[in-house]
Amino acid sequence: MTVADPLEIDLTGFAGVVVSPGVPLNKHPIAAKARDAGVPIIGDIELFAQARAELPPHKVVGITGTNGKSTTTALIHHIIETAGIPARLGGNIGLPILGQDPLPEGGVYVLELSSYQIDLTFGLDCDVAVLLNITPDHLDRYAGFEAYAASKARLFEMQSKGHAAVMGIADAPSAEIARQVAVSGRSEDLHKIAPGVCMDQSRWPALQGPHNAQNALAAIAACEALGIDKEAIDKGLETFPGLPHRMERVATKRGVLFVNDSKATNADSTTPALSAYPRVHWILGGLAKTDSLEACRPGFGHIVKAYTIGDAGELFASLLEGEMPVERSGTLEAAVKSAAANAQPGDTVLLSPACASFDQFKDYEARGQAFRDAVEALG
Ligand code: ADP
Repeated sequence: MTVADPLEIDLTGFAGVVVSPGVPLNKHPIAAKARDAGVPIIGDIELFAQARAELPPHKVVGITGTNGKSTTTALIHHIIETAGIPARLGGNIGLPILGQDPLPEGGVYVLELSSYQIDLTFGLDCDVAVLLNITPDHLDRYAGFEAYAASKARLFEMQSKGHAAVMGIADAPSAEIARQVAVSGRSEDLHKIAPGVCMDQSRWPALQGPHNAQNALAAIAACEALGIDKEAIDKGLETFPGLPHRMERVATKRGVLFVNDSKATNADSTTPALSAYPRVHWILGGLAKTDSLEACRPGFGHIVKAYTIGDAGELFASLLEGEMPVERSGTLEAAVKSAAANAQPGDTVLLSPACASFDQFKDYEARGQAFRDAVEALG
């Protein structure tokens, strides 16, 4: 088989060009070529949307936002399955949706949608669409912040009248979209949070911290809109196992909780974890993305001691000295040993590195696994 160079192909008469969400539409020549030929550029979610009429009757929940997408998508999927309803995860999480077996009648497809995926989707009418938040990110692929926010808003523009919208309003751009959708009258279920569902966050072990309160509320509202009963929602929140490497509870030893938050690869994403526990032994460092830890300051009051590792170890130790006790541990293994020896019952040993992993590990998953192994080796 010969593979043609896509840039050499005459696109006249093509129904569409299917690209991966990784292709930057503002830079890649295939995007310009398709636009010039008047051919739509689509992704796998659009193909799924076009195939829906062939599937047994079902519902679709779409989740977008700058942060919290994976957690909220997995949580909604878990609650739906807890209610005994067949469900599939797809989009930006797990297996591609087109590679999975179709659901029987009454099933729910739960799709995590990055803004890149929404940009490639034109006809996905979500029964429930969820927007968590919009903060500056990925701006290299958009003309500006407004264009990025507008991309997320399209998830609601594709919905039929009467379908539900669940919207975070904690940041100004999301609140603006919520206002516009409310005025359009498209969503009768806006901001509806289930009365009767237990709102005690301390009963949701895998959903700690203020950011997870937002994710949980969005999931509750989405599941309410799907008509799931309150008992299943309560049970789903309590039994949600969480996602690996995101504030993942690895073990409790001698009353000390060990938490793997290896996915927190910058200072911003570390902050929620620091604030989620009262007394934290904080393991941080790796390949630094910034030379400041100021974004983490709101969590500093919770830290008993910091243990630095990797390339950024020296820099981070010097930034934190004077603010809190600091140990230059060097390796993750040494940091876990030391933190475990210092921690008292009720304390938390937290790997939330605020750094990329590539100086000492293959990726953040390998770093998280090394943390689990080091905790297990403590005996
Ligand atoms: P995403 O799939 O959007 O990247 P994840 O659920 O994987 O989001 O969470 C990634 C990190 O983002 C978490 O470790 C946490 O630090 C942060 N985070 C999660 N939910 C939120 C939220 N609702 N608001 C702000 N930050 C969040």
